[in-house]
Amino acid sequence: MLNTDEVTKLRQSLESEQARLVRNAQDGLQFSMNRERSSIGRDSIDESMEEEIFSTELRLRDREKFLLGKITGALDRLSAGTINECESCAEPIGFRRLLARPVTTLCIECKEEAEKEESTQVQARQGGMGLRDDLGSDDLAVTPTEDS
Ligand SMILES: [Zn+2]
Repeated sequence: MLNTDEVTKLRQSLESEQARLVRNAQDGLQFSMNRERSSIGRDSIDESMEEEIFSTELRLRDREKFLLGKITGALDRLSAGTINECESCAEPIGFRRLLARPVTTLCIECKEEAEKEESTQVQARQGGMGLRDDLGSDDLAVTPTEDS
């Protein structure tokens, strides 16, 4: 069981990540509204470039939605007192691991096991769509939108 201090730290970490993602999502909304406006009376804008940017934007927003869902789930588990319970083997997840990856639902042993399975699945799927957001994505450190 986590102590109050640990719970507070995890909550702060999750809530700041949540706020950041919501801000990004709002920026994305702004972006598509601007895009609609600029498409009225469009002239020599490089359309393929613009499409490229727009589809990247949409992909990022899907990822943000996905991560936000994970964060909401983690906050629920935090309230329920089950955030440090591995959903696979029910062993406690170490606090340091939780602090580094608060949305994780697996202890390190189960995660490593899952990653082994994932890498064989990814190999089997190569040449496919290359969509990997459902795989190994409890890694909040990946934030490709910082430069926007
Ligand atoms: Zn486990």
